[in-house]
Amino acid sequence: MSVYVNDDLMDYDEAMARFDVVIGLEVHVELNTASKMWCGCTTEFGGEPNSHTCPICLGLPGSLPVVNAKAIESAIRIGLSLGCEIAQWCRFARKNYFYPDMPRDYQVSQSDEPLCFDGEVTVEVDGEEHLIPVERVHMEEDAGKTTHIGGSGRIHGAGYSLVDYNRSGVPLMEIVTRPIYGTGTKGPEVARTYLAYLREMMRALGVSEARMERGNMRCDANVSLMPKGSTELGTRTETKNVNSLKSVEAALRYEIRRQAAVLAAGGRVRQETRMWNEGGFTTAGRSKEHAEDYRYFPEPDLVPVAPSREWVEELRATLPEPPAARRARLQAAWGFTELEMRDINGVEGALELIAETIEAGAPASAARKWWVSDLARRANEAGVALDEVGMSPGQVAALQALVDSGALTDKLARQVIDGVLAGEGEPADVVAARGLAVVSDDSALSAAVDVAIEANPGIAQKIRDGKVQAAGALIGAVMKAMAGQADAARVRELILEKLG
Ligand code: ADP
Ligand code: MG
Ligand code: ZN
Repeated sequence: MSVYVNDDLMDYDEAMARFDVVIGLEVHVELNTASKMWCGCTTEFGGEPNSHTCPICLGLPGSLPVVNAKAIESAIRIGLSLGCEIAQWCRFARKNYFYPDMPRDYQVSQSDEPLCFDGEVTVEVDGEEHLIPVERVHMEEDAGKTTHIGGSGRIHGAGYSLVDYNRSGVPLMEIVTRPIYGTGTKGPEVARTYLAYLREMMRALGVSEARMERGNMRCDANVSLMPKGSTELGTRTETKNVNSLKSVEAALRYEIRRQAAVLAAGGRVRQETRMWNEGGFTTAGRSKEHAEDYRYFPEPDLVPVAPSREWVEELRATLPEPPAARRARLQAAWGFTELEMRDINGVEGALELIAETIEAGAPASAARKWWVSDLARRANEAGVALDEVGMSPGQVAALQALVDSGALTDKLARQVIDGVLAGEGEPADVVAARGLAVVSDDSALSAAVDVAIEANPGIAQKIRDGKVQAAGALIGAVMKAMAGQADAARVRELILEKLG
């Protein structure tokens, strides 16, 4: 099915020649605290609709919120990891808006008093460093989830709507960059690399799963264009609904090409939110609310947050090794080339799985091979994340141990992977059930070699005459007869013994 989109798009290279790109990224990260931001309800995903709720996260009159200390701790650690200052004192604010997914018609957020501010992150794209200025990291709460019943699933044309507040009040962090200038032609890639960095950092800090496909991490991508030579910021659009790293890059490229065509035709870019469609284009959403529409005011039901400097320093001491340093250290320890490392970095989640596989006893090169080639391809085909492909690091290590012991060839090991992914159990179970082990038992091999010699008298004669390299053809015949399960080295020995 193709959707017709009526946008004129300028060629990307031409757009780059005529305009400078300015990007701004707002990233929401759901924290993995056990309880919600203001109440003791579980943050566990799923459950019967509205079963993880109480008067506070339902916003019932008279209920009083209390700040989740663990969420503040995570927020400070995130801020520190992004090089931010931590506020001495800051308040929460009410952000008014009227959608039923927010039961009290306002979201508790922070506006001009963020908990963390003025940070920066350096990301590297194609060997060039780009500085991403982080304006602020603030705390807020997630909304509930509305489902529109009847019609197309959108509110227009729906018969009625259902709302589930299980997610309402789950702690959310918002990480906002300042406008990012000077990315040249690489803007979309820089944005993608920055998001990959954030994701890795959140996991290293242990504060969030940061899975974009599950909505633990969400990005709104702002972009505007300035004609070359101009220093006046252009009008931005903000694209929402971007649920993967790839989509962030694609959505930015699309918006750049669309805005370039609008501007080149003498038009004006409308300031609006747009939606990313997985079909590869953006569509207009609502035109942008202004900050004044939210009528921010300090939340009177919550005390200000005033983290002591001692606590901040204690938390700074718990920061993990920065992702780039960790990658460099692992690359050296594992002996991988730049290219091999780049392959690993290109597959989401591969680094972690490889590290766990090596920890479970597999040699580094084997761990890399199974995850980056075989399992990544299968995850891709199945449309799932690599760590959901159906094989664990322990199982990959067990599989490799079978290969190393000579019980499996790589080819047989791939069939074992088939079995594990099909739910047939551990690698050893699959080997037993499917009868996949390499046959090195001499009587079986010897019989197969005899058959091959009889069937190929010409080749056998050559070997008798001293042309040892002809043995390859006989080994091939034996392997074929034994469905690839013969121990090739032993077959060769037997052939030479019999004909030598
Ligand atoms: P809002 O909530 O209205 O989207 P925010 O300040 O939270 O506003 O986020 C706006 C994002 O867009 C920030 O990352 C900011 O740096 C960026 N931004 C602001 N103006 C522009 C612009 N003209 N072009 C590109 N990005 C911009
Ligand atoms: Mg925004
Ligand atoms: Zn609650």
